[in-house]
Amino acid sequence: MSDQLLAGNATVVTLDEKSTFIDKGAVLCENGVIKKVGSTGDLLREYPGAHYMDLEGRVLMPGMINVHHHLYSTFARGMGIKDEAPENFVQILERLWWRLDNALSMEDIYISALIPLIEGIRRGTTTIIDHHASQHKIPGSLDELSKAAVELGVRHCLCYETSDRWGQEIADEGIEENERFIKLCKEQPDDLRAAAFGLHAAFTIGDETLRKSIEVVKKYGSFFHCHVAEDRADEEDSMKKYGMPIMKRFEKSGALDGGFMAIHCIHINEEEEDIIKGHNVLVVHNPESNMNNGVGCARVPKFLEKEITVGLGTDGFTSDMFRELAVMPLPHRLLSKDPRTFTFPQIFQTYFQNNPAIAGKFFNKPLGVIKEGAFADMIVLDYDPPTPFSGNTFLGHCLFGFPQTPVSTTIIGGKVVMREGRILGVDEERVMARARELAPKMWDRF
Ligand SMILES: [Zn+2]
Repeated sequence: MSDQLLAGNATVVTLDEKSTFIDKGAVLCENGVIKKVGSTGDLLREYPGAHYMDLEGRVLMPGMINVHHHLYSTFARGMGIKDEAPENFVQILERLWWRLDNALSMEDIYISALIPLIEGIRRGTTTIIDHHASQHKIPGSLDELSKAAVELGVRHCLCYETSDRWGQEIADEGIEENERFIKLCKEQPDDLRAAAFGLHAAFTIGDETLRKSIEVVKKYGSFFHCHVAEDRADEEDSMKKYGMPIMKRFEKSGALDGGFMAIHCIHINEEEEDIIKGHNVLVVHNPESNMNNGVGCARVPKFLEKEITVGLGTDGFTSDMFRELAVMPLPHRLLSKDPRTFTFPQIFQTYFQNNPAIAGKFFNKPLGVIKEGAFADMIVLDYDPPTPFSGNTFLGHCLFGFPQTPVSTTIIGGKVVMREGRILGVDEERVMARARELAPKMWDRF
Protein backbone atom coordinates (compact mmCIF):
# COMPACT_ATOMS: atom_id res chain seq x y z
CA MET A 1 0.00 0.00 0.00
CA SER A 2 1.16 3.51 -0.77
CA ASP A 3 2.88 5.44 2.01
CA GLN A 4 1.68 8.64 0.35
CA LEU A 5 -0.97 10.68 2.14
CA LEU A 6 -2.68 13.47 0.23
CA ALA A 7 -4.54 15.90 2.47
CA GLY A 8 -6.60 18.09 0.20
CA ASN A 9 -9.58 20.39 -0.33
CA ALA A 10 -8.36 22.63 2.50
CA THR A 11 -7.43 26.24 3.13
CA VAL A 12 -3.72 25.59 3.51
CA VAL A 13 -1.83 28.02 5.74
CA THR A 14 1.81 27.25 5.05
CA LEU A 15 3.47 29.73 7.49
CA ASP A 16 6.44 29.81 5.12
CA GLU A 17 8.40 33.02 4.53
CA LYS A 18 5.54 34.52 2.54
CA SER A 19 2.75 33.25 4.83
CA THR A 20 1.15 31.63 1.79
CA PHE A 21 -2.57 30.81 1.85
CA ILE A 22 -3.78 28.25 -0.68
CA ASP A 23 -7.50 28.03 -1.28
CA LYS A 24 -8.59 24.46 -2.17
CA GLY A 25 -5.01 23.48 -1.46
CA ALA A 26 -3.43 20.09 -0.84
CA VAL A 27 -0.30 18.64 0.72
CA LEU A 28 1.34 15.38 -0.28
CA CYS A 29 3.26 13.54 2.46
CA GLU A 30 5.67 10.70 1.85
CA ASN A 31 8.07 8.92 4.26
CA GLY A 32 7.22 11.35 7.06
CA VAL A 33 8.04 14.44 5.04
CA ILE A 34 6.10 16.93 2.91
CA LYS A 35 6.79 16.14 -0.72
CA LYS A 36 4.61 18.66 -2.50
CA VAL A 37 2.23 21.57 -1.78
CA GLY A 38 -0.21 22.80 -4.38
CA SER A 39 -3.80 22.84 -5.59
CA THR A 40 -6.00 19.83 -4.83
CA GLY A 41 -6.83 19.30 -8.52
CA ASP A 42 -3.19 19.26 -9.60
CA LEU A 43 -2.00 16.95 -6.80
CA LEU A 44 -4.90 14.51 -7.29
CA ARG A 45 -3.97 14.20 -10.97
CA GLU A 46 -0.28 13.87 -10.19
CA TYR A 47 -0.60 11.33 -7.35
CA PRO A 48 -3.63 9.14 -8.11
CA GLY A 49 -2.28 6.30 -5.93
CA ALA A 50 -1.96 8.40 -2.75
CA HIS A 51 -4.36 7.87 0.14
CA TYR A 52 -6.64 10.90 -0.20
CA MET A 53 -8.04 12.70 2.83
CA ASP A 54 -10.78 15.19 1.92
CA LEU A 55 -10.68 18.04 4.45
CA GLU A 56 -13.95 19.58 3.21
CA GLY A 57 -12.72 23.16 3.11
CA ARG A 58 -11.27 23.21 6.61
CA VAL A 59 -8.00 24.89 7.67
CA LEU A 60 -4.78 22.88 7.33
CA MET A 61 -1.77 24.41 9.09
CA PRO A 62 1.55 23.30 10.61
CA GLY A 63 1.33 21.50 13.96
CA MET A 64 2.01 23.49 17.12
CA ILE A 65 5.37 23.23 18.90
CA ASN A 66 5.74 23.43 22.68
CA VAL A 67 9.34 24.18 23.62
CA HIS A 68 9.06 23.75 27.41
CA HIS A 69 6.76 21.28 29.13
CA HIS A 70 6.70 19.06 32.23
CA LEU A 71 4.76 15.93 31.31
CA TYR A 72 5.25 14.54 34.82
CA SER A 73 3.03 17.18 36.43
CA THR A 74 -0.35 15.62 35.49
CA PHE A 75 -1.24 14.05 38.83
CA ALA A 76 -1.07 17.43 40.58
CA ARG A 77 -4.52 18.07 39.12
CA GLY A 78 -6.96 18.29 42.04
CA MET A 79 -4.36 17.21 44.58
CA GLY A 80 -4.30 18.95 47.95
CA ILE A 81 -0.96 19.89 49.48
CA LYS A 82 -0.25 18.80 53.02
CA ASP A 83 1.44 21.94 54.39
CA GLU A 84 0.24 25.50 54.57
CA ALA A 85 -0.22 27.31 51.26
CA PRO A 86 3.20 28.31 49.86
CA GLU A 87 4.06 31.96 50.25
CA ASN A 88 6.69 32.10 47.54
CA PHE A 89 8.19 30.21 44.61
CA VAL A 90 10.75 28.19 46.58
CA GLN A 91 7.97 27.01 48.90
CA ILE A 92 5.89 26.03 45.83
CA LEU A 93 8.79 23.79 44.77
CA GLU A 94 9.39 22.40 48.26
CA ARG A 95 5.76 21.80 49.18
CA LEU A 96 4.38 20.74 45.80
CA TRP A 97 6.66 19.85 42.88
CA TRP A 98 9.65 18.31 44.67
CA ARG A 99 7.37 16.18 46.80
CA LEU A 100 5.29 15.18 43.80
CA ASP A 101 8.22 14.16 41.61
CA ASN A 102 9.66 12.16 44.53
CA ALA A 103 6.46 10.14 44.82
CA LEU A 104 6.19 9.08 41.16
CA SER A 105 6.43 5.38 40.26
CA MET A 106 7.59 4.25 36.82
CA GLU A 107 4.00 3.54 35.79
CA ASP A 108 2.95 6.98 37.09
CA ILE A 109 5.61 8.54 34.85
CA TYR A 110 4.32 6.66 31.79
CA ILE A 111 0.60 7.20 32.39
CA SER A 112 0.95 10.80 33.51
CA ALA A 113 2.93 11.53 30.33
CA LEU A 114 0.29 10.01 28.05
CA ILE A 115 -2.36 12.44 29.29
CA PRO A 116 -0.75 15.80 28.40
CA LEU A 117 0.49 14.22 25.16
CA ILE A 118 -3.11 13.30 24.30
CA GLU A 119 -4.30 16.76 25.35
CA GLY A 120 -1.56 18.25 23.20
CA ILE A 121 -2.66 16.23 20.16
CA ARG A 122 -6.25 17.37 20.77
CA ARG A 123 -5.01 20.98 20.64
CA GLY A 124 -2.78 20.42 17.64
CA THR A 125 0.61 20.05 19.33
CA THR A 126 2.89 17.84 17.28
CA THR A 127 6.29 18.50 18.92
CA ILE A 128 7.08 18.78 22.64
CA ILE A 129 10.37 19.61 24.34
CA ASP A 130 10.07 18.23 27.86
CA HIS A 131 11.97 18.73 31.11
CA HIS A 132 11.45 15.70 33.34
CA ALA A 133 11.87 15.10 37.09
CA SER A 134 11.29 11.98 39.20
CA GLN A 135 14.15 12.17 41.68
CA HIS A 136 13.61 8.76 43.21
CA LYS A 137 12.90 6.96 39.92
CA ILE A 138 15.63 8.23 37.64
CA PRO A 139 17.26 5.41 35.60
CA GLY A 140 15.04 4.61 32.62
CA SER A 141 12.53 7.38 33.37
CA LEU A 142 13.13 9.06 30.00
CA ASP A 143 12.36 5.74 28.29
CA GLU A 144 8.91 5.77 29.93
CA LEU A 145 8.22 9.25 28.54
CA SER A 146 9.57 8.28 25.13
CA LYS A 147 7.45 5.11 25.08
CA ALA A 148 4.33 7.21 25.73
CA ALA A 149 5.24 9.71 23.01
CA VAL A 150 6.08 6.98 20.47
CA GLU A 151 2.80 5.14 21.12
CA LEU A 152 0.90 8.34 20.41
CA GLY A 153 3.24 9.34 17.56
CA VAL A 154 4.28 12.70 19.06
CA ARG A 155 7.67 14.22 18.19
CA HIS A 156 9.59 14.74 21.40
CA CYS A 157 12.87 16.00 22.84
CA LEU A 158 13.54 14.82 26.39
CA CYS A 159 15.96 15.57 29.18
CA TYR A 160 16.29 14.73 32.85
CA GLU A 161 16.21 17.55 35.43
CA THR A 162 19.60 17.06 37.14
CA SER A 163 19.69 18.59 40.63
CA ASP A 164 21.74 18.54 43.82
CA ARG A 165 18.64 19.01 45.94
CA TRP A 166 18.81 15.45 47.33
CA GLY A 167 22.60 15.13 47.33
CA GLN A 168 25.43 14.10 45.00
CA GLU A 169 24.37 10.50 44.45
CA ILE A 170 20.98 11.48 43.04
CA ALA A 171 22.55 14.30 41.04
CA ASP A 172 24.92 11.73 39.50
CA GLU A 173 21.98 9.50 38.61
CA GLY A 174 20.44 12.48 36.81
CA ILE A 175 23.65 13.07 34.87
CA GLU A 176 23.80 9.37 33.93
CA GLU A 177 20.17 9.34 32.77
CA ASN A 178 20.79 12.35 30.54
CA GLU A 179 23.95 10.78 29.13
CA ARG A 180 22.24 7.42 28.56
CA PHE A 181 19.35 8.95 26.64
CA ILE A 182 21.57 11.34 24.63
CA LYS A 183 23.69 8.32 23.63
CA LEU A 184 20.63 6.27 22.73
CA CYS A 185 19.32 9.03 20.47
CA LYS A 186 22.71 9.29 18.77
CA GLU A 187 23.21 5.54 18.30
CA GLN A 188 19.65 4.76 17.25
CA PRO A 189 18.49 7.87 15.40
CA ASP A 190 14.74 8.27 15.09
CA ASP A 191 13.02 11.30 13.56
CA LEU A 192 10.42 11.28 16.33
CA ARG A 193 12.87 11.40 19.22
CA ALA A 194 15.63 13.74 20.43
CA ALA A 195 17.56 14.50 23.62
CA ALA A 196 18.94 17.44 25.54
CA PHE A 197 20.77 17.63 28.89
CA GLY A 198 18.50 18.82 31.69
CA LEU A 199 19.56 20.92 34.65
CA HIS A 200 16.94 21.92 37.20
CA ALA A 201 18.10 25.47 37.97
CA ALA A 202 21.26 27.28 39.04
CA PHE A 203 20.31 27.31 42.72
CA THR A 204 20.15 23.49 42.92
CA ILE A 205 23.24 22.85 40.78
CA GLY A 206 26.59 23.09 42.59
CA ASP A 207 29.88 23.58 40.76
CA GLU A 208 30.84 19.89 40.85
CA THR A 209 27.55 18.76 39.26
CA LEU A 210 27.79 21.59 36.74
CA ARG A 211 31.31 20.54 35.80
CA LYS A 212 30.31 16.90 35.28
CA SER A 213 27.26 17.95 33.25
CA ILE A 214 29.33 20.21 30.98
CA GLU A 215 31.68 17.28 30.31
CA VAL A 216 28.76 15.18 29.04
CA VAL A 217 27.32 17.98 26.91
CA LYS A 218 30.72 18.61 25.34
CA LYS A 219 31.35 14.90 24.74
CA TYR A 220 28.12 14.48 22.73
CA GLY A 221 27.73 18.01 21.30
CA SER A 222 24.46 18.17 23.20
CA PHE A 223 22.32 21.04 24.48
CA PHE A 224 21.50 22.23 28.00
CA HIS A 225 17.86 22.79 29.00
CA CYS A 226 17.72 24.68 32.32
CA HIS A 227 15.41 26.98 34.30
CA VAL A 228 17.06 30.39 34.73
CA ALA A 229 15.99 33.16 37.12
CA GLU A 230 12.39 32.01 37.27
CA ASP A 231 12.22 33.61 40.71
CA ARG A 232 14.34 36.33 42.27
CA ALA A 233 15.56 33.71 44.80
CA ASP A 234 17.54 31.96 42.01
CA GLU A 235 19.51 35.15 41.22
CA GLU A 236 19.99 35.99 44.91
CA ASP A 237 21.34 32.51 45.57
CA SER A 238 23.85 32.89 42.73
CA MET A 239 25.03 36.28 44.00
CA LYS A 240 25.37 34.93 47.55
CA LYS A 241 27.13 31.64 46.73
CA TYR A 242 29.20 32.63 43.69
CA GLY A 243 29.33 36.43 43.80
CA MET A 244 27.93 36.73 40.29
CA PRO A 245 24.58 36.43 38.50
CA ILE A 246 23.47 33.09 37.02
CA MET A 247 24.33 33.63 33.38
CA LYS A 248 27.74 35.04 34.28
CA ARG A 249 28.42 31.89 36.33
CA PHE A 250 27.27 29.67 33.48
CA GLU A 251 29.41 31.62 31.01
CA LYS A 252 32.53 31.38 33.20
CA SER A 253 32.03 27.66 33.78
CA GLY A 254 31.86 26.92 30.03
CA ALA A 255 28.21 25.84 30.17
CA LEU A 256 27.38 28.24 27.32
CA ASP A 257 30.11 26.97 24.98
CA GLY A 258 27.65 24.48 23.45
CA GLY A 259 23.90 24.91 23.02
CA PHE A 260 21.85 26.27 25.93
CA MET A 261 18.10 26.70 26.44
CA ALA A 262 17.39 29.12 29.30
CA ILE A 263 13.84 28.82 30.53
CA HIS A 264 12.05 31.90 31.99
CA CYS A 265 14.89 34.48 32.40
CA ILE A 266 12.57 36.74 34.41
CA HIS A 267 15.07 38.24 36.85
CA ILE A 268 18.21 38.48 34.70
CA ASN A 269 20.03 41.80 34.41
CA GLU A 270 21.29 43.75 31.40
CA GLU A 271 24.72 42.08 31.47
CA GLU A 272 23.09 38.64 31.44
CA GLU A 273 20.96 39.65 28.45
CA ASP A 274 24.18 40.49 26.62
CA ILE A 275 25.71 37.14 27.62
CA ILE A 276 22.58 35.38 26.31
CA LYS A 277 22.81 37.26 23.04
CA GLY A 278 26.57 36.72 22.75
CA HIS A 279 26.30 32.95 23.18
CA ASN A 280 23.11 32.51 21.13
CA VAL A 281 21.32 31.12 24.19
CA LEU A 282 17.70 30.23 23.43
CA VAL A 283 15.17 31.67 25.88
CA VAL A 284 11.69 30.26 26.55
CA HIS A 285 8.83 32.35 27.93
CA ASN A 286 5.99 30.66 29.89
CA PRO A 287 3.53 33.43 30.74
CA GLU A 288 0.64 31.42 32.23
CA SER A 289 2.87 29.47 34.62
CA ASN A 290 4.72 32.65 35.60
CA MET A 291 1.49 34.44 36.44
CA ASN A 292 0.23 31.44 38.40
CA ASN A 293 3.42 31.27 40.49
CA GLY A 294 3.49 35.02 40.97
CA VAL A 295 7.16 35.15 39.93
CA GLY A 296 7.03 38.08 37.51
CA CYS A 297 7.23 38.53 33.75
CA ALA A 298 10.30 38.30 31.47
CA ARG A 299 11.06 41.39 29.36
CA VAL A 300 10.32 39.53 26.13
CA PRO A 301 9.76 42.55 23.84
CA LYS A 302 13.15 43.87 24.95
CA PHE A 303 14.77 40.47 24.31
CA LEU A 304 13.33 40.57 20.80
CA GLU A 305 14.69 44.07 20.23
CA LYS A 306 18.11 42.75 21.24
CA GLU A 307 17.65 39.92 18.70
CA ILE A 308 17.63 37.24 21.39
CA THR A 309 15.80 34.09 20.24
CA VAL A 310 12.89 33.78 22.64
CA GLY A 311 10.12 31.24 22.12
CA LEU A 312 7.00 30.09 23.94
CA GLY A 313 6.40 27.11 26.25
CA THR A 314 3.74 26.08 28.74
CA ASP A 315 5.88 24.83 31.68
CA GLY A 316 3.34 22.09 32.47
CA PHE A 317 0.59 24.62 33.13
CA THR A 318 -1.40 23.65 30.03
CA SER A 319 -0.84 21.57 26.90
CA ASP A 320 -2.76 24.07 24.74
CA MET A 321 -0.33 26.19 22.75
CA PHE A 322 -3.16 28.20 21.13
CA ARG A 323 -4.26 29.29 24.57
CA GLU A 324 -0.72 30.07 25.75
CA LEU A 325 -0.14 32.11 22.60
CA ALA A 326 -3.36 34.10 23.05
CA VAL A 327 -2.44 34.84 26.68
CA MET A 328 1.21 35.69 25.94
CA PRO A 329 0.94 39.46 25.34
CA LEU A 330 -1.56 40.09 28.14
CA PRO A 331 0.69 40.25 31.25
CA HIS A 332 3.09 42.50 29.33
CA ARG A 333 0.30 44.95 28.49
CA LEU A 334 -1.15 44.80 31.97
CA LEU A 335 2.20 45.50 33.64
CA SER A 336 3.20 48.28 31.23
CA LYS A 337 -0.34 49.73 31.22
CA ASP A 338 0.25 50.20 27.50
CA PRO A 339 -1.79 48.25 24.91
CA ARG A 340 0.99 48.76 22.34
CA THR A 341 3.36 46.52 24.31
CA PHE A 342 4.21 43.22 22.57
CA THR A 343 3.29 44.14 19.00
CA PHE A 344 1.66 41.75 16.52
CA PRO A 345 4.95 41.26 14.61
CA GLN A 346 6.67 40.46 17.94
CA ILE A 347 3.96 37.93 18.85
CA PHE A 348 4.31 36.32 15.42
CA GLN A 349 8.08 36.20 15.72
CA THR A 350 8.09 34.74 19.24
CA TYR A 351 5.92 31.77 18.43
CA PHE A 352 5.78 31.24 14.66
CA GLN A 353 9.43 31.96 13.92
CA ASN A 354 11.29 31.23 17.13
CA ASN A 355 9.56 28.02 18.28
CA PRO A 356 10.34 26.28 14.97
CA ALA A 357 13.91 27.64 15.19
CA ILE A 358 14.34 26.32 18.76
CA ALA A 359 12.85 22.89 17.99
CA GLY A 360 14.92 22.84 14.80
CA LYS A 361 18.08 22.63 16.91
CA PHE A 362 17.07 19.09 17.92
CA PHE A 363 15.55 17.68 14.72
CA ASN A 364 17.11 17.42 11.30
CA LYS A 365 14.28 18.75 9.12
CA PRO A 366 12.24 21.98 9.23
CA LEU A 367 9.29 22.07 11.64
CA GLY A 368 6.33 24.42 12.03
CA VAL A 369 6.00 25.06 8.31
CA ILE A 370 4.24 23.46 5.37
CA LYS A 371 6.80 23.29 2.60
CA GLU A 372 8.66 20.66 0.64
CA GLY A 373 11.21 18.82 2.76
CA ALA A 374 9.69 19.78 6.13
CA PHE A 375 8.39 17.16 8.55
CA ALA A 376 4.77 16.36 7.65
CA ASP A 377 3.41 17.65 10.97
CA MET A 378 0.03 19.25 10.27
CA ILE A 379 -3.30 19.90 11.93
CA VAL A 380 -6.84 20.42 10.70
CA LEU A 381 -8.94 23.11 12.36
CA ASP A 382 -12.74 23.13 12.11
CA TYR A 383 -12.67 26.86 11.57
CA ASP A 384 -15.27 28.79 9.68
CA PRO A 385 -13.82 32.33 9.70
CA PRO A 386 -16.39 35.04 10.50
CA THR A 387 -14.20 37.74 8.87
CA PRO A 388 -11.77 37.69 5.92
CA PHE A 389 -9.08 35.07 6.48
CA SER A 390 -5.73 35.61 4.73
CA GLY A 391 -2.01 35.97 5.32
CA ASN A 392 -2.63 39.52 6.57
CA THR A 393 -5.32 38.59 9.07
CA PHE A 394 -4.01 35.17 10.14
CA LEU A 395 -2.61 36.22 13.52
CA GLY A 396 -5.84 37.92 14.59
CA HIS A 397 -7.76 34.70 13.85
CA CYS A 398 -5.06 32.69 15.61
CA LEU A 399 -5.24 34.76 18.82
CA PHE A 400 -8.98 35.37 19.00
CA GLY A 401 -10.51 32.44 17.11
CA PHE A 402 -8.27 29.37 17.31
CA PRO A 403 -8.32 28.98 21.13
CA GLN A 404 -12.04 28.19 20.83
CA THR A 405 -11.69 26.14 17.64
CA PRO A 406 -11.63 22.32 17.72
CA VAL A 407 -8.69 20.57 16.11
CA SER A 408 -10.27 17.63 14.30
CA THR A 409 -7.24 15.86 12.87
CA THR A 410 -3.57 15.80 13.83
CA ILE A 411 -0.89 14.38 11.53
CA ILE A 412 2.72 13.84 12.68
CA GLY A 413 5.40 12.66 10.28
CA GLY A 414 2.69 11.95 7.71
CA LYS A 415 0.92 9.61 10.13
CA VAL A 416 -2.59 10.43 11.30
CA VAL A 417 -2.47 10.36 15.12
CA MET A 418 -5.96 11.79 15.65
CA ARG A 419 -8.74 11.49 13.11
CA GLU A 420 -11.98 13.47 13.58
CA GLY A 421 -11.33 13.78 17.31
CA ARG A 422 -10.38 10.14 17.87
CA ILE A 423 -6.92 9.44 19.29
CA LEU A 424 -5.49 6.48 17.40
CA GLY A 425 -2.32 5.46 19.29
CA VAL A 426 -3.80 4.36 22.63
CA ASP A 427 -7.14 3.50 24.21
CA GLU A 428 -7.85 6.89 25.73
CA GLU A 429 -10.59 5.71 28.11
CA ARG A 430 -8.34 3.02 29.55
CA VAL A 431 -5.51 5.51 30.05
CA MET A 432 -7.77 7.90 31.96
CA ALA A 433 -9.24 5.06 34.05
CA ARG A 434 -5.74 3.83 34.95
CA ALA A 435 -4.68 7.38 35.82
CA ARG A 436 -7.66 7.65 38.21
CA GLU A 437 -6.45 4.46 39.92
CA LEU A 438 -2.82 5.53 40.16
CA ALA A 439 -3.23 9.21 41.12
CA PRO A 440 -4.80 8.69 44.59
CA LYS A 441 -2.05 6.19 45.44
CA MET A 442 0.55 8.75 44.47
CA TRP A 443 -1.30 11.38 46.52
CA ASP A 444 -1.00 9.05 49.56
CA ARG A 445 2.78 8.79 49.05
CA PHE A 446 3.09 12.55 48.44
ZN1 LIG B 1 9.71 24.46 33.76
